[in-house]
Amino acid sequence: AAAHAALELRGVDCSYGDTQVLRDVSLVVRPGRVTALIGPNGAGKTTSLRVASGLLRPTTGTVLLGGEDITGVPTHRRSTRGLCHVPEGRGVYRNLTVQENLTMQAPRGTVAAGIERATAAFPVLGQRLQQKAGTLSGGEQQMLSLSAAYLRNPSVVLVDEPSLGLAPIIVDVVFEFLQTLGAEGVSLLLVDQFAIRSLSIADHAYVLRRGRVAYDGPADELLDGNMFEQYIGEG
Ligand code: ATP
Repeated sequence: AAAHAALELRGVDCSYGDTQVLRDVSLVVRPGRVTALIGPNGAGKTTSLRVASGLLRPTTGTVLLGGEDITGVPTHRRSTRGLCHVPEGRGVYRNLTVQENLTMQAPRGTVAAGIERATAAFPVLGQRLQQKAGTLSGGEQQMLSLSAAYLRNPSVVLVDEPSLGLAPIIVDVVFEFLQTLGAEGVSLLLVDQFAIRSLSIADHAYVLRRGRVAYDGPADELLDGNMFEQYIGEG
């Protein structure tokens, strides 16, 4: 039998009040693979990640984690079951130090090892352990926020716009980190403004348009000139 999807949205509709923003969205994150979710502004990418992590309830449809229906499971319990959401806009505690932020994310008994791994991935954080997170640069805050994907040892990571507002050299660091996560067997669902870069580290891709899945197929096929023009070129 085929292995279960790491994460799956099946036939999901979702609304904010009277405004429906997801229409029959089905997508699969395969185990140990990188899946890119792309599409123009307002297409419903962030909303899809929120449905996956439990911050939003779909009006119709199902969310599955490792083949189990988790549609009714609250966010914090999804997190202890191995799903990690790195939201847009850097979810760090600004008044706590880097070390305190890292400590909070790590499960009991894994703090030292987790901090070691995170600072190995992002050496600059190791030099700033006693600094308040709010005084870090944007790129350093993003690295701190991405460290959660290491500290909690998740099996599935949802990443929303990790490169937003970062200097190009930091964008390189972030994409390298994401690629490493994928290579280590973490199942990744990635939303990022840089479609070409996302597709080039992804195995599979979905394009959302006005809340619907417009493309579902191999990432490299979308990088083909005509396909790219058709699905992404017009923005
Ligand atoms: P972007 O790339 O601009 O972040 P996106 O694809 O992530 O876009 P979403 O953030 O999922 O899109 O938004 C989808 C639609 O839902 C948009 O039209 C947006 O205005 C609307 N929307 C998002 N959040 C809310 C909210 N809290 N209340 C009402 N409408 C919302």
